[in-house]
Amino acid sequence: MSTQTETHAFQAEVSEVLSLVVHSLYSNREIFLRELISNASDALDKLRFEALTAPELMGAEESLGIVLDADPEARTLTIADNGIGMTREELVQNLGTIASSGTRRFLDALKEGGAENAPDLIGQFGVGFYSAFMVASEVRVTTCRAGESSGSVWVSGGEGSYSLEEADGLGRGTIVTLSLREGDEFDAFLQEFTLREVVRKYSDFVEYPIQMQIERTKPKLDDEGKPIEGETETNQVTDTLNSMKPLWAKPKEEITDEEHEEFYKHLSRDWNAPFDTIHFRAEGTLEYTALLYLPAQQPFDLFDPAARASKVSLYVRRILIMRDCEDLLPGWLRFVRGVVESNDLPLNVSREVLQDDPRVRQIQKRLVRKVLDSLKESLADDRERYEEFWRNFGVCLKEGIYYGDDVEQRVSGVSLFGSSHGEGLTTLAEYVERMGDDQDAIYALTGTSRKVLECSPHLEALASQGVEVLFLTDPVDEWMLQRLTEWDGKPIRQADKGEGLAEGDEAKAAREEKQKEFEGLLGAMQAALADDIQEVRFSARLKNSAAVLVGEENALSPQLERMLRRSGQDVPKQKRILELNPGHALVTGLEKLHAVDAQSPRVAEIAELLYGQALIAEGMALEDPGRFTKLLTELMTSSVKG
Ligand code: ADP
Repeated sequence: MSTQTETHAFQAEVSEVLSLVVHSLYSNREIFLRELISNASDALDKLRFEALTAPELMGAEESLGIVLDADPEARTLTIADNGIGMTREELVQNLGTIASSGTRRFLDALKEGGAENAPDLIGQFGVGFYSAFMVASEVRVTTCRAGESSGSVWVSGGEGSYSLEEADGLGRGTIVTLSLREGDEFDAFLQEFTLREVVRKYSDFVEYPIQMQIERTKPKLDDEGKPIEGETETNQVTDTLNSMKPLWAKPKEEITDEEHEEFYKHLSRDWNAPFDTIHFRAEGTLEYTALLYLPAQQPFDLFDPAARASKVSLYVRRILIMRDCEDLLPGWLRFVRGVVESNDLPLNVSREVLQDDPRVRQIQKRLVRKVLDSLKESLADDRERYEEFWRNFGVCLKEGIYYGDDVEQRVSGVSLFGSSHGEGLTTLAEYVERMGDDQDAIYALTGTSRKVLECSPHLEALASQGVEVLFLTDPVDEWMLQRLTEWDGKPIRQADKGEGLAEGDEAKAAREEKQKEFEGLLGAMQAALADDIQEVRFSARLKNSAAVLVGEENALSPQLERMLRRSGQDVPKQKRILELNPGHALVTGLEKLHAVDAQSPRVAEIAELLYGQALIAEGMALEDPGRFTKLLTELMTSSVKG
């Protein structure tokens, strides 16, 4: 019934992906079947969902399913479904272009990562349908969209173009016919045994029957029902290859690790086993089942601003209502994969309804709690393994603290930080345990790297009194600290802000006295730095360094200020305080110089140099490196001239 055949070129990215898939995935060939079965199962989900509001799309008694058919003579393998099907436009859009923006990045990542990482990458990015070309020299897709009277046939050898023609008289759904490549390794996919194995391995939990006609050879029976010696008969029977039971509906203790692993891989497209599995049934006024997985590796889109929604699917009475339902988990737990099924929610829920539904909020609260409980357990059970997890996902959890979701300090309780105590990571509870009796606060210091922080002048006085300092080097830490202001009743103080470590009354009085005495010097230095510094004063926090920069208690840190500016926000310039070490020879020298010659230009120059040096020590950039270098050179020159 076909009319004209048209030839179309693939979008450039498709051709590139196709050749990569065909040439780099051969060791995992069999996954093509999983991908095509997933697509068929998705198409059935979509049909069932659309039929909720348009019942005419399917017959009332109709059974939905997937049929495999191997034809050894023609060397073809067919995967057919009676799902939603595709219109001609959808066919072109779905199989001729790569719509997702992830693909471009996938290709870039592949170029960076090298071909040997291709299987992992392809798994993560999911190039689904195109994996058919690993085993097929030609793929034919015959499809008819539910509710349409005519359909289309798409044919391609996977080499840059595909043909498209119209076809009438098709039933609803999609038939994918693979003409297998020549060779024993491809012949395997014509055998019942292999197909059965691969389906059981990857697609057992698919909720629709995956059926195949198989030949059963039995001894022939005589009229009395006894086998006739040496005679057999062969019958065709329909066999269902998968158990179809959705994994989450099975009793917890009956699920094997392998089943979890395959289901997780199916949901996430990850190639690694999950880090942890959470499976529970909530009973009471709102009943639901949740099966959640925490990944072990960072997914590629973890920090993609367009992929910040939760990745948990919502089912109501076995029907997939929403993939990636953003209301089931907060965005900071977007790495969690899984399924929630509740029979207590209405089938016709829309995104808008879900957003305001108190039942969904109740589910979310419980899921967050469960995830955090399981992290707490992992932290206690196997520290090393947990630290690996934390390195991948800690940033997200810290986001959770920032967003105000640190209920009862459950998130900060499983958070790990670098610290001056040693190379490793510490929890806040461990920090508190090490605190001396007279230490009144937890101290933290933010900065660009551990190395910079280890050399920070801010540590000097704290270290000399044996006070441990948390080293926070993630950009998100700055944000987190705005919320995380105390732990277990102890205030968390930033070492580079405010007054610093409490000093004794006597020391304080002496410092204030001195401050008065050298008012003139401090004022002159401040005048020289008026654009950047609000005050120059004597410090209680320095031991070896001559000077350090300090922020006001609630001021933005320079890192945060820089981040905000970069993101285009108009932030007023934050002037900090320059603190001088009263015991440092440079400072006492300055005092003398000022006493002898209050007008000496040296005072201003040294003030500038001290400020520049303090910036460098923080790992920050100088505003005018040229001027700094000139002043420094002059000073060095005068010191060698004698
Ligand atoms: P993905 O499944 O990750 O979206 P694929 O390349 O496997 O990527 O498929 C692309 C799209 O083609 C699917 O999203 C779906 O819309 C459509 N598609 C593929 N197979 C079928 C099918 N059997 N029935 C209906 N639509 C399909």
